[in-house]
Amino acid sequence: MKYYSTNRQAPEATLEEAVVKGLAADKGLFMPRTIKPLPQDFYDRIDTLSFQEIAYQVADAFFGEDVPADTLKQIVYDTLSFDVPLVKVTENIYSLELFHGPTLAFKDVGGRFMARLLGYFIKKEGKKQVNVLVATSGDTGSAVANGFLGVEGIHVYVLYPKGKVSEIQEKQFTTLGQNITALEVDGTFDDCQALVKSAFMDKELNEHLQLTSANSINVARFLPQAFYYFYAYAQLKKLGISSPVICVPSGNFGNITAGLFGKHMGLPVSRFIAANNRNDIFYQYLQTGVYSPRPSVATIANAMDVGDPSNFARVLDLYGGSHAAISAEISGATYTNEQIAETMQQVWKEEHYLLDPHGACGFRALAEGLRPGEVGIFLETAHPAKFKDTVEKIIGEPVSIPEKLQAFMRGEKQSLPMTKDFADFKNYLMTV
Ligand SMILES: *Cc1c(COP(=O)(O)O)cnc(C)c1O
Repeated sequence: MKYYSTNRQAPEATLEEAVVKGLAADKGLFMPRTIKPLPQDFYDRIDTLSFQEIAYQVADAFFGEDVPADTLKQIVYDTLSFDVPLVKVTENIYSLELFHGPTLAFKDVGGRFMARLLGYFIKKEGKKQVNVLVATSGDTGSAVANGFLGVEGIHVYVLYPKGKVSEIQEKQFTTLGQNITALEVDGTFDDCQALVKSAFMDKELNEHLQLTSANSINVARFLPQAFYYFYAYAQLKKLGISSPVICVPSGNFGNITAGLFGKHMGLPVSRFIAANNRNDIFYQYLQTGVYSPRPSVATIANAMDVGDPSNFARVLDLYGGSHAAISAEISGATYTNEQIAETMQQVWKEEHYLLDPHGACGFRALAEGLRPGEVGIFLETAHPAKFKDTVEKIIGEPVSIPEKLQAFMRGEKQSLPMTKDFADFKNYLMTV
């Protein structure tokens, strides 16, 4: 499969080049040249298949031309070492619980897949060390760091905004050691993202180090996220329900874009809803047709505090830049901290289901946006215990921490302070 750049000014790349480079030379995002529809027979019997079996079919459509079948199967099966159950919350709303992986957030799927695929390419080519740069507002850093921990030939640098991620999130990527280095940036998530982007564009740095990105701009991270949309559909089909509305709490829009790819492969989803917090750039785009990025503001759903969603370029590309086509398939919603908290309280009280602040945006968008007769699935993108302090304050009850998280809390934080000045970051990387 060849990958073109959304800016169309760079030559097409192979999968390996797209994964190793992350971003195209013209600063565009890589897109697969074709999106292969899956056969009707697959959809007919999807409810008889396991998560891994479904995911392998999807992976084969994306990566089958470039990775030997047994290797790809191994990567898929290793990646999905945990379940993604669909849980009924109300009569017509289901939660797709994406938090049963090692770091308790959906990013485990993409992070684990990418680590294994990149590891395969490095081994195959006998490449020199590859350095993964990843900016995180919380969950990406932990998923990527844990996914790559101990993978030979790869060093990971996690850039995160000082004081803006929860202690639990921070511990998940600052306590690992080995091939993982955490850089604590005196700035915002957008500053971290800008540092990573500048690093990729810096000629001298790229001559010195082989750099790649593990943000959702990387095709090896974002495409595998399509797996669980198919599995969600399979679980719903088992209940005799089809064509759900799928609602995705969105920040950089990698997760929802993977779902849109699923729909282009024939997955029967009636429509999508992108739920935003106050960083509602996409919502405003839907209303006005104008995309105006702006600095992010901090909210209690901090993994969605993104002022210029990087995968917007992919959404545009997928629909030929047509605002009408995008609006026909995706609607939006935007919520304040107060609304998010109110939703968490209400759902806890009435349904005894504990939402995290991100999932709460997704739930509320369905509760408000479903039409009569529709069934909705929202992606519960992280475990509520990852935001313990916030969640406890809101529901007024203690939240127990799963053992997986407690283990991280016992580790000792190790991070390097960094300014938001690119010159400092570059200087550091030139001398490591
Ligand atoms: C990353 C993240 C999001 C946003 O996902 P995108 O792919 O960036 O849109 C939402 N919720 C949680 C918990 C996250 O970690």
